[in-house]
Amino acid sequence: MITRVTEEDLVRQAIDLAARTRRQIEAAELHITEFAQVAALFQVTVCTGELPEGKDGSYLKDERRIILSSSVTTPERINFTFCHELMHSRIEDDGDLLSDFADAHRRSDEAAMERLCNAGAAEVLLPAEDVRQFDCSVALIPELSERFFASSIAVALQMINCADDARYLVIAELRTVIVAPATPLDPYNRIGDRLVVVYGAKSPAAKYFIRRNRHLPLDHGLYHAMLQPETALKMDAEVPIGDNPWPLPCECLYFRQKVFAFFHEPSRNAVSPDQMRMF
Ligand SMILES: [Zn+2]
Repeated sequence: MITRVTEEDLVRQAIDLAARTRRQIEAAELHITEFAQVAALFQVTVCTGELPEGKDGSYLKDERRIILSSSVTTPERINFTFCHELMHSRIEDDGDLLSDFADAHRRSDEAAMERLCNAGAAEVLLPAEDVRQFDCSVALIPELSERFFASSIAVALQMINCADDARYLVIAELRTVIVAPATPLDPYNRIGDRLVVVYGAKSPAAKYFIRRNRHLPLDHGLYHAMLQPETALKMDAEVPIGDNPWPLPCECLYFRQKVFAFFHEPSRNAVSPDQMRMF
């Protein structure tokens, strides 16, 4: 019998590979911030360079080289990006995982590969077992980041990886973006500051994927978090999925220039999002 590999199987494999990678880094007595030495452990080089807008890093498979964007300046984002690109290299070197990935997706699926690398990067930075004993709550992100000397991005991603129920994670940053592109009648791009999704993830029990680089409209509830830094707020807010986002109970926190939000999907016996999206 042929059983199709699911996305959840692939995420689990990527997390296992990441845990082995972390143990190799620890055995070499290196810290993850020693990028060049850590990369060299896996016969990879690392450099800084200019990358297109919205791209924090890149892995050049043929050259076995990681490029980190010079426009990313916060240590947390740089560390996370390095681990994400390192995961690209580890997955490219793992024939079994690559062939399972090809079976599951048939053709190249960049967004699915990004999800594997994000889940793996969180595991490289912070073991899931350290996070599993805590609730999935934005209020705990600052404390756990300090306790485990880990990036807040890794803490939030591990919380969502470990959550038993259906939840979505959105990490957004304020950016100056084009809010209305030029048209023949109005030849100038209109720009404005908007929260932009820089990372999105779902718990294993949740159904939909969250895309990066989506702008949140100015009336979105997550902007309230920015007015009260380091205070966890609860509200109903639209989960940024698909063309017709729908409101879900949400808990959000503004911390280290990022808004972290967990959206909690009530059990599927309640009104399903598909039904709600018809309205
Ligand atoms: Zn990537």
